[in-house]
Amino acid sequence: MSDPADDSAPTTDFVRERIRADLASGAVQQVVTRFPPEPNGYLHIGHAKAITLSFSVAKEFGGRCHLRMDDTNPEAEDQEFVDAIQEDVRWLGFEWDALYYAADYFDQLYAWAEQLVEKGLAYVDDQDAEAISTGRGTLTTAGTESPFRGRSSAENLDLLRRMKAGEFGDGQKVLRAKIDMAHPNLNMRDPVLYRIRHLAHQRTGDTWCIYPMYDWAHGQSDSIEGITHSLCTLEFEHHRPLYDWFLDALGIFHPRQIEFARLNVEYMLTSKRKLLQLVEDGHVDGWDDPRLPTLRGMRRRGYPPEALVAFCRHVGVAKFNSTHEISLLDHFVRDHLNKTAPRRMAVLDPIELVIENWPAGQIEMVTAINNPEDEAAGTREVPFGGRLWIEREDFMEEPPKGFFRLAPGREVRLRYGYFVTCTGVDKDAAGAITRIRCTYDPATRGGNAPDGRKVKATIHWVSAEQALDAEVQLYDRLFTDPDPAAADGAGFLQLLNPDSKKVITGKLEPSLQHAAPGERFQFERLGYFTVDPENPGVFLRTTTLKDGAKRKK
Ligand code: ATP
Ligand code: MG
Repeated sequence: MSDPADDSAPTTDFVRERIRADLASGAVQQVVTRFPPEPNGYLHIGHAKAITLSFSVAKEFGGRCHLRMDDTNPEAEDQEFVDAIQEDVRWLGFEWDALYYAADYFDQLYAWAEQLVEKGLAYVDDQDAEAISTGRGTLTTAGTESPFRGRSSAENLDLLRRMKAGEFGDGQKVLRAKIDMAHPNLNMRDPVLYRIRHLAHQRTGDTWCIYPMYDWAHGQSDSIEGITHSLCTLEFEHHRPLYDWFLDALGIFHPRQIEFARLNVEYMLTSKRKLLQLVEDGHVDGWDDPRLPTLRGMRRRGYPPEALVAFCRHVGVAKFNSTHEISLLDHFVRDHLNKTAPRRMAVLDPIELVIENWPAGQIEMVTAINNPEDEAAGTREVPFGGRLWIEREDFMEEPPKGFFRLAPGREVRLRYGYFVTCTGVDKDAAGAITRIRCTYDPATRGGNAPDGRKVKATIHWVSAEQALDAEVQLYDRLFTDPDPAAADGAGFLQLLNPDSKKVITGKLEPSLQHAAPGERFQFERLGYFTVDPENPGVFLRTTTLKDGAKRKK
């Protein structure tokens, strides 16, 4: 596998091939794409794939990409989501050439509906939702025609205008296209174009009491904006005949809809409905909980947007749905952070180490490298003294074969500090180790012995006197099962990982006192951490250093 993080390589796939062909044949002069979220929730990692694709394609071919709020259903939509979506798209690093709202097309969509009625291609149906659904038939049986299907154009036009004027209650009438009740594709069996809903819309207020259905709004919105390639996920493949039928019936500009596979990642849920349930039932701490695959959650957790985009590019577009390993996403996150995150020392499961031959009360500054991957990041000074914190697991009183870190009689390097040799331990009444005793070799300052002698392990530490006590939140995957979406109904709630969030107090090197909200670090040997933007002073673990968090002996 070539370096998956290398996004400079030319990308090709069936979407780009199609666009190239359309440009070559002259069918398309300038590529125009769009990302059309419904503002009824927050964007998640699946949307990141759709965003990356539509924006990148437009850029690669010198075209334009629109952001369109697909805001045709006021029931679950909200201005809060409209704002959040823009913020999240920008956070990913993309900027739209224009921002549009499907609601701004309501007048035009309505005028087109009257045209269909006049052409005899749409009718007002008085049946209720259940009767319409039953009448649609099944995959193996044809539908039945509505008793209202034969209404004259004049009658339909009058009824449609009265629907719009608010003369009827919710659900009393709908406008349907008149296509074919025996069509093999159920979407073509006289689909509903408008339904009555007496509800204010976040953008159009009380102007409307009839609202267009997705299929009636989407293709025409694409057409109005001059979208050349309307990229959407595979579940819309069966809607394409209808998309095409409406545009042909109206005789307006005809964009090309191309479907690609949804992005699925192991251990992650991307259904807005299920995410909502997790938030509303309090299984997570809000939409920006660091365990959620929402862009806000991942941003808060410290995922660099560049890593998400690189992941989406690497995954690419295909025609079949597949699920990607979470470790692949982590790979891109680590790859970016390894190059960019300054190193710091922190001890998360502290045990005290005392240096018996250290001059009483003396504190020295030792020089530590900020990022071995980036010389320009420079160095910093870290206090070192006779009382230090080290990780409990870096010491074993009776080390098994293969354990090379600190043990009685053994010498190790304290990173950037000195070589120390363990002389013994203190224990409490119950026999638990309370303190590790060592001596140090003053000649090894900086971490190297002038006589060239070697040690088998280097461990990190924090000077006890200057240590910053800080809350650290350790995050792990939210579900215990790689495919929580497969569970029936609310079954995914049974698969929640009880250990997905652990809160501890860590001992941090004092320079971290000045860490800014959102700043990202590598805690040496432990993982990548960020300062919680919502709670400055609290550190969140973005990811461990290695898959499975297994550390070298
Ligand atoms: P809902 O669950 O409400 O249907 P949705 O996930 O389809 O929501 P939209 O706001 O309608 O959300 O999605 C906007 C665009 O993002 C659509 O073009 C959709 O195809 C795409 N998209 C949504 N989820 C994914 C996913 N998992 N992978 C790739 N693209 C996605
Ligand atoms: Mg949708």
